[in-house]
Amino acid sequence: MRSEIMQLLRDTYAEQREKNTREEYRRRAEAEERIHGLGELLQERQELIYSGVRGILTGAKAENLPERMEKLNGRIAAMLTAGGYPATWLDPVYRCPICRDTGYTGDTVREMCACMRAAYHSEVMRRLGLGDDAGVSFERFDESIIPETKLEDWGITQRALSVRIRDQARQWTQAWPDAPRIVLMYGESGLGKTYLMRCMARALTEGGHEVLLISAYQLMDAARKAVFGGETDELTACMETECLLLDDLGSEPMIPNITVEQLYSLINERGRAGRATVVSTNLNPEQLRSRYGERIVSRLTDRSNALILAFRGDDLRRVDGARRATV
Ligand SMILES: [Zn+2]
Repeated sequence: MRSEIMQLLRDTYAEQREKNTREEYRRRAEAEERIHGLGELLQERQELIYSGVRGILTGAKAENLPERMEKLNGRIAAMLTAGGYPATWLDPVYRCPICRDTGYTGDTVREMCACMRAAYHSEVMRRLGLGDDAGVSFERFDESIIPETKLEDWGITQRALSVRIRDQARQWTQAWPDAPRIVLMYGESGLGKTYLMRCMARALTEGGHEVLLISAYQLMDAARKAVFGGETDELTACMETECLLLDDLGSEPMIPNITVEQLYSLINERGRAGRATVVSTNLNPEQLRSRYGERIVSRLTDRSNALILAFRGDDLRRVDGARRATV
């Protein structure tokens, strides 16, 4: 996904630069038409530039070139202001003064400009369905919709538990990459796992990390395409992205010789490469074990290398529905 977005951004920036050039021509044509004599002065300046370049090429030094240029620029600026235009009217046009719409800064070491980094992140957000108005973020996490039912055997309410899990997830995103490689979120459906995962995706993206959020179903689709069709792009992206957030493990089809094998190599190789894998599932560890086998579950539940977030309580959608029904 990263290279695809980078290509898109390079195209967008190239388009922007063309637009800038067209705007420069338009401004010049407009000013030349309205200000008598401006065209001639600009022509003169152009010739002066040419003679300077010729001088460099032939070794014949043009006389007082900088002074003559400065004088000419002064006359052009004065003419523009007298004609009701800003003195900078014919300056180069660009949106970002730092990179001048190239997307990069620095001469020897090229670095992505802040404007391009921001564009990159907002494109990732958009693709994750986390556009600015999606309302999904740790900041907007609304604990008031979570019931204050006491959880048996836990000595804590569902709301308190959810807030605790939220804090753990948030701390993990702030600490990454200095944090466990695996996050396992499990619990019955409707307890807010997917929402929390999307909060994590946003926080990681805003922190400058590369993120891919997909469902287990999509992952298996990518695996199927790779194995049967030789189309490996999507699976490679899942393998290589810095932070993979895999939603709803257990909802994907069980394809013999594929599902378990691909999942294992994904978790294993990502862990070895020091990448993050966040998994949400409605299955508890026992159910995971009987579906995927011991070696996958032992990776996901290895407390020395995994943050385990166990969700408990009543389905929030039902609670919310019940509340709405009573209003
Ligand atoms: Zn820039």
